[in-house]
Amino acid sequence: MKKIKSIIIVGGGSSGWMAASYLNKVLMAESGISITVIESPDIETIGVGEATVPTIRNFFQKIGLPEKELIRETNATIKSAIKFVDWFDRGEGDSYYHPFEAPLYSDGIEVSAHWAAEKIKGNTVEKFANATGVIPDLCDAQKVTNASQAKDYSANTLYAYHLDAVLMASYLRKKSIERGVVRVEDTVTAVNQNDRGEITSVNTANAGEHTADFFIDCTGFSSLLIEKTLKEKFISYEDELPCNSAVAIQTPYTDESSFPPPFTTATAKSAGWIWEIGLSSRKGNGYVFSDKFQSFDQAESELRQHLGESANGLTAKKLKMRVGRRENSWSKNCLAVGLSSGFLEPLESTGLQFIQVALELFVDYFPSVNNYAALQKQFNQVLAAKYEDSKDFIVAHYCLTAREDTDFWRHMKHESKISDSLQHQLALWKHKLPSHSDLKEIGLFSAPNYMYILAGLNSLAHETLSKESDIPSQRSKQVLQQMQKIRQGAVKVSGSHQSYIKGI
Ligand SMILES: Cc1cc2nc3c(=O)[nH]c(=O)nc-3n(C[C@H](O)[C@H](O)[C@H](O)COP(=O)(O)OP(=O)(O)OC[C@H]3O[C@@H](n4cnc5c(N)ncnc54)[C@H](O)[C@@H]3O)c2cc1C
Repeated sequence: MKKIKSIIIVGGGSSGWMAASYLNKVLMAESGISITVIESPDIETIGVGEATVPTIRNFFQKIGLPEKELIRETNATIKSAIKFVDWFDRGEGDSYYHPFEAPLYSDGIEVSAHWAAEKIKGNTVEKFANATGVIPDLCDAQKVTNASQAKDYSANTLYAYHLDAVLMASYLRKKSIERGVVRVEDTVTAVNQNDRGEITSVNTANAGEHTADFFIDCTGFSSLLIEKTLKEKFISYEDELPCNSAVAIQTPYTDESSFPPPFTTATAKSAGWIWEIGLSSRKGNGYVFSDKFQSFDQAESELRQHLGESANGLTAKKLKMRVGRRENSWSKNCLAVGLSSGFLEPLESTGLQFIQVALELFVDYFPSVNNYAALQKQFNQVLAAKYEDSKDFIVAHYCLTAREDTDFWRHMKHESKISDSLQHQLALWKHKLPSHSDLKEIGLFSAPNYMYILAGLNSLAHETLSKESDIPSQRSKQVLQQMQKIRQGAVKVSGSHQSYIKGI
């Protein structure tokens, strides 16, 4: 068995440097495998990708980054939830939270069951996420539980970060180079293959030919190795998720009172939705939309209208997105990571998460030279299943809407494709609350994630729920009141988001 001794990563965006820093820690430090990153000085990175999910903490911790340094270096803030505005009804500012927590338990029964029981009976209940957990109240109070923990990467509630993706890549680059990764600043102009089609080397514009045993394609949507060289097929999700374009504007803070909240805001608009993400240094904003329903100019003007004076005179960045996944992200001796592997619209911040997932899987299925068929097959199946599941989860944010005010929303409600598996789950959840056994083990999203979205779209507490309709109202009221006390206690003992970040 011939062991892999060298890996070349082509591309130096978020995926290139996440790959380099992770593989440096796991493969280079432990097995002496050499890692080289070739990044072009002339081809831009996407440069957006500012919201993350809690698992990213495991990634940074694994590669040994001190948390406070990471927060400082990337202008990060805390993200505890996503606040969805106007997704069910149009333009009234109605909102719901998707927090990073699961509904709490009381005497072994999820509070969600009591919430549903009350809702079915027509009794007044607070919004689902507020009634069943502590994070929405913390978000409303602009508080986080991090400051009370001395240990890095820990808090009393789950959390992730809003961070500057460009600064994150530079920080990971600096750390990787310090730890022995070789960086070549050059553009790959040709990819050379042997007679089995495996990649043997790449030619660069100025620094000649570079050879390696294994190659990682982090070239973004251009997919130089996996698609242009190895011809791996791309499976489009556009008939299910038609948002394929984005226009982004970064705005400055104008005064002290504008310190950002510890959540991402996603506001539904006429042909998509607008993200607002507050970093410690500035705000990132962007309109993700479908070009079948709106032009770039229309989208830019809708975004500017939403942002008001804060966007005056600032340049908008226009991006085309390729939504879908690679049929095989690992082909021959090449692995695609990041946008070259696949992309879902950033509604649930899956971009950096899929990079992490692909790298962890790759290490789990790590091959030797010329002996990888079984490993590769399993890797590709698992990754594809994760993409399919995550795509379904994002479709669920749209298809249950009551909005019919524009062609886009009418399309999403009545015409957009819904996979058989999601249709089955939605039918099932008319009779029961989502639970672990309803979902594939392999997905990135679990039953609580679905509960928050269904509740936000008025589709969680159906009269046909057989179990919950029998719970006595008196008991449910008692549980929900107990929950209120827990929530108030959590707000009382937690610290302000602003002072936590400013303290760092
Ligand atoms: C609108 C939008 C919003 C997003 N929001 C989020 C979010 O909130 N959260 C999240 O997790 N993700 C988000 N993402 C996804 C995230 O931005 C990407 O997953 C991430 O940036 C990975 O990009 P990448 O490194 O694969 O590609 P890129 O950033 O495109 O980098 C490609 C790299 O390859 C190099 N390159 C290309 N060709 C060559 C060549 N021939 N030779 C040498 N080098 C080459 C380039 O120079 C560059 O360094 C978003 C994406 C978009 C489009």
